[in-house]
Amino acid sequence: MRQLIAGNWKMHGMGGEAAALAGAIRAGAAGLACDLLVCPPFTQLVPVAGMLAGSTVAVGGQDCHAEAKGAHTGDISAAMLADAGARFVILGHSERRANHGETDAGVRAKAVAAIAAGLTPIVCVGETEAERTAGWETGVVGGQLSGSLPEGFSGVVAYEPVWAIGTGKTATEDDVAAMHGFIRQALVRQLGEAGSLVRILYGGSVRPANASVLLAVPEVGGALVGGASLVAEDFLAIARAARPG
Ligand code: PEP
Repeated sequence: MRQLIAGNWKMHGMGGEAAALAGAIRAGAAGLACDLLVCPPFTQLVPVAGMLAGSTVAVGGQDCHAEAKGAHTGDISAAMLADAGARFVILGHSERRANHGETDAGVRAKAVAAIAAGLTPIVCVGETEAERTAGWETGVVGGQLSGSLPEGFSGVVAYEPVWAIGTGKTATEDDVAAMHGFIRQALVRQLGEAGSLVRILYGGSVRPANASVLLAVPEVGGALVGGASLVAEDFLAIARAARPG
């Protein structure tokens, strides 16, 4: 399966910056051996999707509401993301779990809504530094998977150790191999044969300098990239490091 290199632009990108970034990524994307995705802030979805139309680069949202419509000030539905040109949506990112109190059950409900709207959810899991120090990482991640993935889940899982996000620290190859192997087993237990087809992305300070090592680890199905996805040349360098599928 082709690896997926996904950029999470978070709360970055005024109109001009987003257009320049999307244009540069589009220009460098042809012929890559991986799938590419960018997830701009909501305000830039329509223009970025327009700029990337007809290219190999997909567009995604960074969150959605579990309901299709209603009195939810400040929220956005999965169908609205699809209507704006998105094909994917990131759910349960650790920043949303920490800053917005998102729970596994809430993430699961959002994943159901995303799939119903025709989007591919990217469900994020990962332990904090304290949890890893205590030796609880597989328990935490296993609990997040069983709590956040709905029955019959079809989508992507991103393993993002919280302590590696935006810190410049990355998990070692051995840690990534162990955790991705653990996640694969949990997915197959939970979803049956379909669990062997779910792409498991690694996220946490992926940079051009470490991408080829991380992307070569067994069961790594791609990368979810934050900071480095804001620089087109870095994002494309990570994509060029993908393992051909
Ligand atoms: C992220 O926020 O999903 C992420 C992985 O960020 P960074 O690459 O900056 O660590």
